[in-house]
Parts: sequence; structure tokens; C-alpha cells
Amino acid sequence: MRAYNFCAGPAALPTAVLERAQAELLDWQGKGVSIMEMSHRSSDYVAVAEKAEADLRTLMNIPDNYKVLFLQGGASLQFSAIPLNLLGKNAQADYIHTGIWSEKAIKEAQRYGQINVVEAGSKVDNKFAITDESTWSLSDNAAYVHYCENETIGGLQFSHIPTTTAPLIADLSSSILSAPIDVSKFGLIYAGAQKNIGPAGLTLVIVRDDLLDQAKPEIPSLLKYAAQAKNESMVNTPATYAWYLSGLVFEWLLEQGGVDAIHKINQQKAELLYDYIDASAFYNNPIALANRSLMNVPFTLADSQLEKLFLEEAEKNHLLNLAGHRSVGGMRASIYNAVPLEAVQALVSFMDEFAKRHG
Ligand code: PMP
Repeated sequence: MRAYNFCAGPAALPTAVLERAQAELLDWQGKGVSIMEMSHRSSDYVAVAEKAEADLRTLMNIPDNYKVLFLQGGASLQFSAIPLNLLGKNAQADYIHTGIWSEKAIKEAQRYGQINVVEAGSKVDNKFAITDESTWSLSDNAAYVHYCENETIGGLQFSHIPTTTAPLIADLSSSILSAPIDVSKFGLIYAGAQKNIGPAGLTLVIVRDDLLDQAKPEIPSLLKYAAQAKNESMVNTPATYAWYLSGLVFEWLLEQGGVDAIHKINQQKAELLYDYIDASAFYNNPIALANRSLMNVPFTLADSQLEKLFLEEAEKNHLLNLAGHRSVGGMRASIYNAVPLEAVQALVSFMDEFAKRHG
């Protein structure tokens, strides 16, 4: 039996995708070898890579003036790659601070330029929230504005895309493909794969063409978007298996009806869980309504002494990885695209039964 996996990342993958990968593992399409054992320059592999990109472009409706790059190093390497690529002509940037991941991006960027940090986290009625952008002091001459659209650890998400004059750069690691998003509003989008895209080891970068000529001269060539774009993300050997498997996830998403369809299911899942938590005196979610995350739902128990027991019993019920991030504690259910509605239904039943016994 496959358990229900609420891990924040590496996260659940669709069972159908894993079954297909399993069926193709030893002998990919009659070639007598695994896709992992093929040259990334072979016509067979290049076709797989190109299909994955084409499907992603369809899913996200990515305009032609954007390059899609399939890179390595995780979202964290992009914390360095972005300033190295974009601060070559103007070394100033604005960074919106809303939580742990935006803070990590800020720390790295500060090594490369003059970073104006906009503190956008607040507390309203004892709930965490994001301040209205009308209160932010953005610079007049920033090369770009960076923000983290969904803070995976805090469970704090923007309710809309901020309006900026400088190109907007978004960390979409934990929200990409969960809901429709207008790519044309962004200068650059990046995301580690291991939540809504595929296995760890792959990082997506979607970058507008006019931002490709602003790199610092000392940038490592592997990190340089212009070089990766010119070489179809194959300046060196890419993460071939993760790229292939992500392509299978894109095909699966298209079969589900695309991002609009999966978004509707995601809304049902989130509503079910948040409504249950809100109605319960035993559980609490610490986020203001407008900024609740669609993908990552943190919650606490009325008595934190019960956390260990909650996790043990959840695991016995095949509900895995519900512990909050080690830096904040509490619980967190990550309900990415591959987590079905039935998983959330099972979680809510378990939570209710646990609260009745211990509340
Ligand atoms: N940004 C966000 C929003 C994340 O959730 C994560 C990982 N959980 C990262 C960045 C870092 O990703 P990686 O481990 O791929 O470097």
C-alpha cells in the first residue's frame, strides 16, 4: 500500500507517473537501455527533453519571449545565480522579506550587490500576514524585485502578484503549477523541482529574453542563463533522469486537465483542511485568511506535549511526514498536486478522531 505523503519536499509524486517510470526503467521504448543510461546528446534523449519543455510551456502558457532552463543546484543555487546574472549593469535590487526562504535569498544576494530589504511580514490579530504593497518602500532604480510567492515553512502565500516597475523575480518552488499564473508579469521565475515538478536534482528557471545580457563578468558559465539558453540547458550533463521524470509529471498534469483542473482540486483540498482546523478548538493555523498557503498548511495542537503522539499515530494510519519544519516546530501538511483529495479526507478524519480522544 502507498501511504499518504504530506512531505514538504521531496514530496509525493503521482502513482501513475512512478508506475510508468517503473515500466520503462530497464528498457526505455525498446532501446534495450534505461533512459538514465543514454547520452544527453542522443536524439532520443533530446526528444524527451524537448517534449518536457513543450508540455511545460503549454501547462503554464509561457510566452515565446521566455527561455525555459532545466538546471541543477536546487532553488538555493538560484539565490546566487540570480544576482550574478542580473546585477552586472546595475548592482541594486529590492528583496521582499516574508519568511525563511526569502531571507535565505536575501543573505546570498547581499554578497553581490546593494540589497534594499522590504520587511513585508506582519501580524494581524495574532496571525501572520503579508503587508499591503502600498506600504512597501521600493527603490527607484532597482535592477529587479525578488519575492518568495509561497513561504513553504511558514505556510504564508501572496494573495496576488505585486505590481513593480523593475522586473519581478519569483521563487515559485512550492507553488508552481498549483494554480494558474500569468508568466508575462514576471522577469524570471524559478523553482526547485522536488515539490510540484518531479524529483530533486532539477531546478526550473523561466527567464525573459531581455534579462539575458545583464550578468556580472565573473559569473561561472554553468550559472549563466545566456549560456544555458544558448546550449538548451546542456552546457554540461544535465540531471537527465529528473528531467525525464518531470516530463512524465507534465504529461500526467495535462491528462488531469492542466493547471486549471488541478487548481480546483487543490482548492477543495485546502478548503477541507482549513475549514476543519477553523471549526476545531483543538487545532490552530497561525496565518491570516488572505495569506494562507494553498500548498503548505501549518497547524498546532492545543497541547504541544501531544505532538509526538500525534505523529506516531498518524504514521500508523499511513499519514506520513506531518511534522513542521525543524526551525518552527508544530505540524505541517503539504498538499501538493500529487496528494489526492482522499489523502486530505483521511487526514481530517484522523485529526478529528485524535482530537476527540485527547481534546
Ligand atoms: N525556496 C523555497 C520556497 C523552498 O521551499 C525551498 C525548499 N524547501 C527552497 C527555496 C530551497 O530549495 P532547494 O533545496 O532546492 O535548494
